[in-house]
Amino acid sequence: MLDTTSIRKKSLELGFSACGFARAEPLPLNDLFNDWLGKSSHGQMHYMEKNIDLRLDPGLLFPGAKTVIPLLASYHTEEYTPAESLKVSRYAVGRDYHRVLKKRAQKLIDWMSGEKPGLKARIYVDSAPIMEKEWARRAGLGWIGKNTCLIRPGEGSWFFLGTIITDLELPPDLPEDRDLCENCTRCIDACPTQALHPDGYLDATKCISYLTIELKDPIPENFMGQTDYWLFGCDRCQEVCPSNRFAKETTIQDLKPKEVFNGINQQMINQMSHDEFEKYFSGTALKRAGLEKLKQTRSFLYPND
Ligand code: SF4
Ligand code: SF4
Repeated sequence: MLDTTSIRKKSLELGFSACGFARAEPLPLNDLFNDWLGKSSHGQMHYMEKNIDLRLDPGLLFPGAKTVIPLLASYHTEEYTPAESLKVSRYAVGRDYHRVLKKRAQKLIDWMSGEKPGLKARIYVDSAPIMEKEWARRAGLGWIGKNTCLIRPGEGSWFFLGTIITDLELPPDLPEDRDLCENCTRCIDACPTQALHPDGYLDATKCISYLTIELKDPIPENFMGQTDYWLFGCDRCQEVCPSNRFAKETTIQDLKPKEVFNGINQQMINQMSHDEFEKYFSGTALKRAGLEKLKQTRSFLYPND
């Protein structure tokens, strides 16, 4: 029988940590998001300005949409700790999560279609304008913390998000309406570049993840000495979050770190050829930045080497 219980059970069998259900209705335009765009806090991520109507209405993205099914997949692992001298964000050390999550979510859809022939469903993993975290919150999977991450009570925030939209009508879960950050400000206090604001606002143009991945230009000199040796991404606001004390190790082998990441150092990046870049980082998220960007960031971190 195809219902929320059986879909949840199947998603766990496929390695997901959690799955929830929300009614596929249009989302109200969030003032914070509007303000964020208005202040150009998205920097060069111009795609954020586009398709706002699609971003807010799953019915426009997927005609006939009845239910949104957010999926969480843990990438927490004790097998990798970023080196002090050159750090790669934990999310990037396994196989590229887009492929890993899509493959598993497609298996879930195939199974659902077997149970209910004719059902229509599609998986999105950063592949369309979708407010993934808001849908996950609406489906009761967690709250959105002051570090702007989706945080699952008792499990933390080291999760990838995927979203299935389907024409299958299913009873929605209760949304997570609590703000469980309460009076904590650890992430705001720990952010090396003061990118986080107390109201849950992230100025992406100051965020190290943006500076080391999305920004096409060299990192501006005013950030010199502030980016805490992050070569690709930044985990600081999740590292300090007390909710992550309870994070569970991922069960998805493809998300475990590739061996190369435990030995990464500045000389290695400095001397790396394109062939070596392919050999070491093919199939990982580092391909998104490219070798030139990595070298540029390394030089920014170690200007005298
Ligand atoms: S990822 Fe790093 S730079 Fe960005 S908000 Fe978090 S702590 Fe600040
Ligand atoms: S560090 Fe504190 S304020 Fe920041 S997200 Fe975690 S619980 Fe919320």
